[in-house]
Amino acid sequence: MFESMHEGHPVYGNLIGGEWKVSQSGQFIDIHSPVDGSLVGKIPAMTQEEVKEAIAGTKENQAAWAALPVYERANILHKAASLLEERSEEIADILVMEIAKDKKSALSEVTRTADLLRYTADIGKGMEGQAVSGENFPGGSPDKISYVNRVPLGTVLAISPFNYPINLSASKIGPALIGGNAVLLKPATQGAISALHLARALNDAGVPAGILNTVTGKGSQLGDFIVTQEGIDFINFTGSTEVGMRISQLSCMKPLLMELGGKDAAIVLEDADLDFAADNIVSGAYAYSGQRCTAVKRILATDKVADALAQKLKERIEALKIGDPRENAVITPLISDKAADFAQELIDDALEKGATLVTGGERVKNLLSPTLLDHVTADMEVAWEEPFAPVLPIIRVKDVDDAIAIANRSEYGLQSSVFTHNIDEAFYVAKRLEVGTVQINNKTERGPDHFPFLGVKASGMGTQGVRYSIEAMTRPKVIALNLQ
Ligand code: NAD
Repeated sequence: MFESMHEGHPVYGNLIGGEWKVSQSGQFIDIHSPVDGSLVGKIPAMTQEEVKEAIAGTKENQAAWAALPVYERANILHKAASLLEERSEEIADILVMEIAKDKKSALSEVTRTADLLRYTADIGKGMEGQAVSGENFPGGSPDKISYVNRVPLGTVLAISPFNYPINLSASKIGPALIGGNAVLLKPATQGAISALHLARALNDAGVPAGILNTVTGKGSQLGDFIVTQEGIDFINFTGSTEVGMRISQLSCMKPLLMELGGKDAAIVLEDADLDFAADNIVSGAYAYSGQRCTAVKRILATDKVADALAQKLKERIEALKIGDPRENAVITPLISDKAADFAQELIDDALEKGATLVTGGERVKNLLSPTLLDHVTADMEVAWEEPFAPVLPIIRVKDVDDAIAIANRSEYGLQSSVFTHNIDEAFYVAKRLEVGTVQINNKTERGPDHFPFLGVKASGMGTQGVRYSIEAMTRPKVIALNLQ
C-alpha cells in the first residue's frame, strides 16, 4: 500500500516492482516537519540488500520498456501529468509540511512538474532518428548511409535534493523514461514523501512494474553503496558540491550529470534602474528562504549605487512575510536547525570582521529573519560560501572589471545577473562571466524548463533542460548501410 496508518501516523512504502514495500528489516525513518516538529510520516530505511534487489528489478524490465513505441511511453507521461494536477492540493499540503515551502510555491512546483512531464513526452516523440549520407566527406560515397537513432543507457540512478523534491525528481525521471531507460529514484530523506507522491502518479499512470523503483534511506548510509553498484548505468544527481564530488570520485567510469551548488552574483551597474533591480534581487534571494541553487547569493556594486540599492533592498526585505508556509509566508523555517546554525555562523563571522547589518539577523530555532549584510569583504566566509538561507551580502567593487573578477573568483559557476540599460555593457560582462547562464535584467533562476541549464566549475557537469537531459541519458546508435 502506498500509505498506511500506524499509531495515527502515515507510513509510506517504496515503489518496487510495481508494489509499495516497506523494509524487511522493519526499520523506518521519522520525517518531522521543519514547520512545527510534528511527524509528517514514516519512510522505510531500506537495506543494502533491498537496494540491490531494486536495481536488479529495473534491469529485468528495461528492455521491454525500451521496446514500447515512444508515443506509448509519452501517453503515460501525459497521464501522470494529469494525475499530478488532480492531486495538486493534496501533494502541495505534503510539501508545505515536509519541507516548509509556502503553499503557493508548493502548488506551483506540482503544476510546473505536470507541464514538465508533458513537454518531455512531446519532445521525446519529436526526437526522430537521422540519416547521414556518406557523400559529404572526402572519399565518401552516396552508397554509404548511416542511420543514427538514440537508444537508452539502461538504469538511471536519480538522486534528488530536498528543496524541489517533486520537480527535480521529475526532471530526471521524465527524460530518462521517455528515452527508454528504467529509473531508480533515491530522493532526499527530507522531501522523500513528496517525491514518493510523484512515483505514485507515474505508477498509477501506467509505468510498468520495475521501470521506476524507489529507495529511501539515509544518503550517508546508502549513498556510497548505490553509486558504486554495477547495475547503475548513469547517475543523474542534484545536490551539494560536497556530495557531488564524492559521487564523482566513487562512481568510477559511470557517466554523470550533476547540478550542484552555486554562489550566483547580481552585478548592478551604475546606470541600472535600482527599483527594478531591488525587486528582482529580493525575490531572487529570499524566495523559499534562499534555499534554491539559483538564489541570488551576493550583490556586486560600486559605492555609487550600493548605498541607494541597500536602502531600497531594506524596505522590500522588511516587507516580506515571515513565518508559517501554510499562510504563504515567504520566509519560512529552514529545513533543519543545522542549516540555521550554518547561516548564523556566516552572519556572526561577517559581523565580527566588520560587515554592517542592514536588516535581519534575528533567529528563533530554525526560522531566520531575512538578512542583508553590507561592506562584506573577501576575508569573510559569507563572501564565498553558499548560505542556503535568507542571507545576502553586498560586496562593494571598484568598477565593472573588479565586479567580473570577484564574480569569477568563486569556486562556483552556476548563474549570474547583470542589471543595466546598456546592452554593450551587459554583453561585455556576460561574455566574461564563468557561469552556465547569465541573466540580463533578471534575477538568477532556473527555467523555463526547456532552456539548457548547467553549472560550470564546482557547480556541475553536463547540461539539463528537457531535450538536453534526454540526450544525456541516451546515446546515438549508428547503423551504417553500405550499398553494393
Ligand atoms: P545534499 O548534497 O545534502 O543531498 C542531495 C542528495 O544526495 C540527497 O538525496 C541525499 O540523500 C543524497 N546523498 C547524501 N550523501 C550521499 C552519498 N554519499 N552518495 C549519494 N547520495 C548521497 O543536498 P541537499 O541539502 O538536499 O540540497 C541542497 C544543495 O543542493 C545545495 O548545495 C544546492 O545548491 C544544491 N542544488 C543544486 C541544484 C542545481 O540544479 N544546481 C538544484 C537544487 C539544489
